Amino acid sequence: DGIRLERVREYVWEIPKEGDMRVPARVLASEPLLEQIGDDKTLQQLKNATHLPGMTKHALCMPDGHQGYGFPVGGVGATDAENGCISPGAVGYDINCGVRMMRTNLTYDDLQGKEEQLVDSLFANIPSGLGGGGVVEEGVDTVEQILARGMDWALEQGYATEADLAHCEDEGVRPDADPDAISQKAKDRGKNQIGSLGSGNHFLEVQRVTDVFRPDVGDAFGLEEDQIVVLIHCGSRGLGHQTCTDYLRRIEKEHADLLEDLPDKELAAAPAGSELAEEYYGAMCAAINFAWVNRQLIMHRTRQVFERVFDRDWEAMEMELLYDVAHNIAKKETHTVGVDPEGRPVRGGEAADEEERELYVHRKGATRAFPAGHPEVPKAYRDVGQPIIIPGSMGAGSYVLRGGEESMNLTFGSTAHGAGRVMSRTQAKQEYWGETVQDELRDQQKIYVKAQSGATVAEEAPGVYKDVDEVVRVSDALGIGDKVARTYPVCNIKG
Ligand code: 5GP
Ligand code: MN
Ligand code: MN
Repeated sequence: DGIRLERVREYVWEIPKEGDMRVPARVLASEPLLEQIGDDKTLQQLKNATHLPGMTKHALCMPDGHQGYGFPVGGVGATDAENGCISPGAVGYDINCGVRMMRTNLTYDDLQGKEEQLVDSLFANIPSGLGGGGVVEEGVDTVEQILARGMDWALEQGYATEADLAHCEDEGVRPDADPDAISQKAKDRGKNQIGSLGSGNHFLEVQRVTDVFRPDVGDAFGLEEDQIVVLIHCGSRGLGHQTCTDYLRRIEKEHADLLEDLPDKELAAAPAGSELAEEYYGAMCAAINFAWVNRQLIMHRTRQVFERVFDRDWEAMEMELLYDVAHNIAKKETHTVGVDPEGRPVRGGEAADEEERELYVHRKGATRAFPAGHPEVPKAYRDVGQPIIIPGSMGAGSYVLRGGEESMNLTFGSTAHGAGRVMSRTQAKQEYWGETVQDELRDQQKIYVKAQSGATVAEEAPGVYKDVDEVVRVSDALGIGDKVARTYPVCNIKG
């Protein structure tokens, strides 16, 4: 049941509007990446997403896209915030899963001979795996503080600096957060996980910068060749997962009529302006705050580990946050969209006029990519565009990009979030053996990996992911996220 893709231009493919689709859908990919999307559910899910009320311009799939729950991972969907809808499946279960990168002034030379000590120490001190506890373990009242105040709480408690907040998306605080909209069960799940990686795909990686492609932007980001940086990937843990589950069930029930008109139950959505839409938005924003604090506490603990291993203060090692980006999120944002003579949003080409619209921009496995000059880009980066962090795999390397000039036009200010999976976890466990993967990475690539479980290493083996170079090449060629630097792993810990 092949889905017809029309080539719009290089790297831009369209599923034309037909039947009940409200808008066309677009896939941004090269031919090899399209081939890897293949005939799984990705394109069908993208097409289904165009049925969501208020969907504006087109539903989009980034170059790293693959199938997910209802809505593709690597999917971007902008719905009208006044008469559209909001859909938890288009945000993802791990609310504000994201990545942050911390700089250091150490070089690769400084780490030689210390890799094993460093990886062991990180593994021993950073809570990971199922039920590994958190950097702090406190009661539900603390969780509520975190939900309400995000990184402001971390600052007050001495776990963060002003500079950390200044270099985080939204400065680490979502003002629309409503802790009362988070269930007791979700809060209980969160309270022992404040500052914990979790398991599976989440990781902390010490990396070395191998290439700087745009030296002027590299300067602004404080990146240079051979420098050591740390990448942290995790989200809102059980709290976010429970919140997504809670609202999916409630929305399916309370807005069953809307669901009946959608092609997939997993797309369940609450109409904009409804009580439940507001409640979910408030809960999601609170879970976003929780995830930011989670990554902050892991970074705080990482600074302490480096202090012990290198016997210097973290300030002396200039361990500053470069940036923190969310990649599972929906946000009210204002965008310029084409409108028909009655002021209704239409697809770009047919627009009679343009208007500023408030939209729910759903980015699921997609990263915000605001260009230079955008007021929401932190001051330090305003002249060059926001940093975008794209992990590749524990064997291939990762990238730092900057928001490109075309992103507002093409993707509601978004780009990819990773290399994207090509192999299922089940298949990966048949294909790879954790210990062998670890041994090969160490012996052949000098990459030191430590994990709670061998199965995780197999599930996350470099071969299960697409070619991150190709994903980034397409993002750069489209001008939505431009290549700034490439990194290569040195140490990696996983749940
Ligand atoms: P997700 O949020 O979809 O689970 O993962 C984001 C991306 O992280 C994946 O698409 C993959 O490219 C990348 N990734 C997964 N494991 C690792 C790892 O151990 N190290 C690095 N650098 N990237 C990884
Ligand atoms: Mn996650
Ligand atoms: Mn993630």
